[in-house]
Amino acid sequence: MSAILGTYKRRNIAFARGKGTYVYSTKGEKFLDFVSGIAVNSLGHCHPHLVKTIQAQSKKLWHVSNVFTIPEQERLAKRLTENTFADYVIFQNSGAEATEASIKVARKYFYEIGKPGRNRIITFSGAFHGRTLASLFAANNKEHTLGFGPKVEGFDQVPFGDHEALKKAITKKTAAIMIETIQGEGGIRVIPNYCLKGLRKLCDQHGILLILDEVQCGVGRTGKFFAFEWAGVEPDIVPIAKGIGGGFPVGACLVNKKVAVGMKPGTHGSTFGGNPLAMSIGNAVLDIILKKGFLENVQKVGKYFENHLNEIKDKYPDIIEEIRGIGLLRGIKLKVDTAKFLDHLFKNKMLGVKASDNVIRLLPPLTVTKKEIDQAIKIITKTCKEF
Ligand SMILES: *Cc1c(COP(=O)(O)O)cnc(C)c1O
Repeated sequence: MSAILGTYKRRNIAFARGKGTYVYSTKGEKFLDFVSGIAVNSLGHCHPHLVKTIQAQSKKLWHVSNVFTIPEQERLAKRLTENTFADYVIFQNSGAEATEASIKVARKYFYEIGKPGRNRIITFSGAFHGRTLASLFAANNKEHTLGFGPKVEGFDQVPFGDHEALKKAITKKTAAIMIETIQGEGGIRVIPNYCLKGLRKLCDQHGILLILDEVQCGVGRTGKFFAFEWAGVEPDIVPIAKGIGGGFPVGACLVNKKVAVGMKPGTHGSTFGGNPLAMSIGNAVLDIILKKGFLENVQKVGKYFENHLNEIKDKYPDIIEEIRGIGLLRGIKLKVDTAKFLDHLFKNKMLGVKASDNVIRLLPPLTVTKKEIDQAIKIITKTCKEF
């Protein structure tokens, strides 16, 4: 009997170690890991540069309070701002904290400029922003909010892709629109570039802020540092987490100069957020991801993966409905039961994970090789054949 409260339905397997794109069970079986801790192990398991970094930093300094200057944090913030739209960064420990910080920044901005009544956030059906109370009710997924009322107020939800409903939902009380650039848990639903451009325009017309949640799709996952770069738009606020720590808990809220004005000393805080150990690892992740040619390679390998997945789709039209995603954020919309399909994949020694909308997600590390993609394609093909 487990003493862990059963909030997860867990597969009956435990892993003892991992290396690159592979994990090894406690019984010594080898699995091709296309879950990567749900886009967390962005550089695969035990990347030598991350191992070296954590070992070195663990002998120097782990944690000091944010009431002191933290050079590793200064450096990571500087690099994040130099390479993105952002002018400032707030560090957190998780995605939910980063999305909540984003909501706080948006509301405080309007308070600061003398419009405190502008405090509502528009969100979209199928969204996922985390499991804290506000992020839960922001996403408004009935399965997740059931029994956790009273509802956290301040969110207005519209159906995903419904332009007219979105326009109608904007009022004088709207502070921001918050949306994942690519819905992850919602089923790898990509917002088309013209829609992202339209969203930015709509926000500008109404003087409201654009928050793009890149907790899952950001930090190189799509082959650009941020997924919104494909559309050439600039958001005001972007929460990130998952991939930036490469397996160590790191979250961050990136903001532009305009919206930063309200966040003065004492307005926000985190005990653990931005500690030297976490920050040294975040910097080490950037060392690799920002290396010349790294993201181009993610694009190349991602396209290769996509082409082969589409070949499988054409071969097995009764099983696969659609291949979704960009770069190495991939979804396969199935016509069959996703849990059963994942069980078969697992039997064939490959790990994938479910999303909504009858989709399975495949999120290999950004360091995945073409050879490993070939192996994945072989296993998926075999799984379709057996199904
Ligand atoms: C995972 C996720 C979150 C929440 O991150 P946690 O670290 O689990 O709190 C928020 N937004 C998106 C888009 C996510 O995929």
